[in-house]
Amino acid sequence: MKKIIVAIDGYSSSGKSTMARQLAREIGYLYVDSGAMYRAVTLFALRHGLATPHGGVDVESLVSRLPEISVSFALAPDSIQHTCLNGEDVEREIRGMEVSEMVSPVAAIPEVRHRLVALQQGYGRDKGIVMDGRDIGTAVFPEAEMKVFVNASPEVRAQRRVDELRAKGVEVDYDEVFANVCERDRIDTTRKESPLRQAPDALLLDNDHLTRDEQMQWLLDRFHEITK
Ligand code: C5P
Repeated sequence: MKKIIVAIDGYSSSGKSTMARQLAREIGYLYVDSGAMYRAVTLFALRHGLATPHGGVDVESLVSRLPEISVSFALAPDSIQHTCLNGEDVEREIRGMEVSEMVSPVAAIPEVRHRLVALQQGYGRDKGIVMDGRDIGTAVFPEAEMKVFVNASPEVRAQRRVDELRAKGVEVDYDEVFANVCERDRIDTTRKESPLRQAPDALLLDNDHLTRDEQMQWLLDRFHEITK
């Protein structure tokens, strides 16, 4: 069967990472979470005082230090892909609110995007990949054979994020998460460099009222139609 590229884009916490990871497992493809890469760069900036929650991002300094940042993925003993920053497993740290609050301003910096997009394109060289993010179908792989744009209301997305974080033992406040989801949507859709938007040839998956199993069936049906 021919191998293709599957690009899954959508708003924050629309459940796209979970479905992209599951789809990749079902079809035997590599999965890459591009958001985790922006989160790792953000963690570097926070650790080095180049980004502060109320002071914003020191763009010039961060750009000058980009060559020091290496982002990679490792398969952890739990068989889940963990994100590494300069070789250190930072999977847990990049999911916290501190990183979530600063990641969209960092991801709006063109030099950060150019560097990460080049890495992402390298992962897709041999196809057979599912990647999720904000610009995968528009900028990273505009030639992807299967593009999906996931949508859900901000309320549903915020509640999902709260449930996900609480399940991991992280105590969070719904209003804080809701505000963060809305703010990231705003920055991601209005930035100059490859803003979040649905590619004209992307299939729309509105998942407010679909169960996980229904979403997966929908994705698998589309995948089999495209690769048959
Ligand atoms: O997917 P996730 O919510 O983890 O992504 C975190 C942030 O990284 C997004 O809010 C967005 O600002 C940025 N991002 C991006 N382009 C991507 C993936 C993520 O700008 N391809």
